[in-house]
Amino acid sequence: MNPAADFISLFFPRCCLACSGMLVKGEDILCTGCIRDLPKQGNGTFQSMMKERLAGRLEICYALAFLKFRKVGIVQHLLHQLKYNNHPEIGVVLGKIFGYELDRIGLSTAFDLILPVPLHPARERQRGYNQSAKFAQGISFSLKVPFDDTILFRVAKTRTQTRKSRLERWENVKGVFALSRSELQGKRILLVDDIMTTGATLEACGEQLIARGCHELSVACIAETA
Ligand SMILES: [Zn+2]
Repeated sequence: MNPAADFISLFFPRCCLACSGMLVKGEDILCTGCIRDLPKQGNGTFQSMMKERLAGRLEICYALAFLKFRKVGIVQHLLHQLKYNNHPEIGVVLGKIFGYELDRIGLSTAFDLILPVPLHPARERQRGYNQSAKFAQGISFSLKVPFDDTILFRVAKTRTQTRKSRLERWENVKGVFALSRSELQGKRILLVDDIMTTGATLEACGEQLIARGCHELSVACIAETA
């Protein structure tokens, strides 16, 4: 930090976006305690149930979830801040931490390209950013693997998934995603979403990537519902 930033922080102390505690020098966005206490999926194995959930539909190499999602608590709070309170930096910082964790468990060279699940352009304009892309950028930074948010895009607007039945959700995303003209032949792709629920979105995106020659498809999300 530079002296000017030190001076400013005297009058405008920066707070942790999870616990609202004051950040100390060297901390950014989240305090050390909150980072330490993040409820990691599978106690740090980051194994997601998505592989089993998509079995027979889509072949997944690694299915990874960073955090455990619960209806109340720090993960719910952070995701809410990320999606609805204009805090894209939360996505980036969580992605960076997750990237370091992936490196630690030996996955630093497992991917050639990181792609976020796209938001509909109208929603992205409204929010100002795609939260999944922010998370993907953070992972990309830590793993030093290229990130591209121009390859996958949405062609039709889906209504919100929250009040839909399982079958309706699968129907809802059919034909929604398309690919730009990009070379994906032989690539090991990590497809990144914010929350994984049924896997319908991942299947719809994944089918397109595999049809284009993606060699190995892996998926990762910030949090997974149990
Ligand atoms: Zn904190």
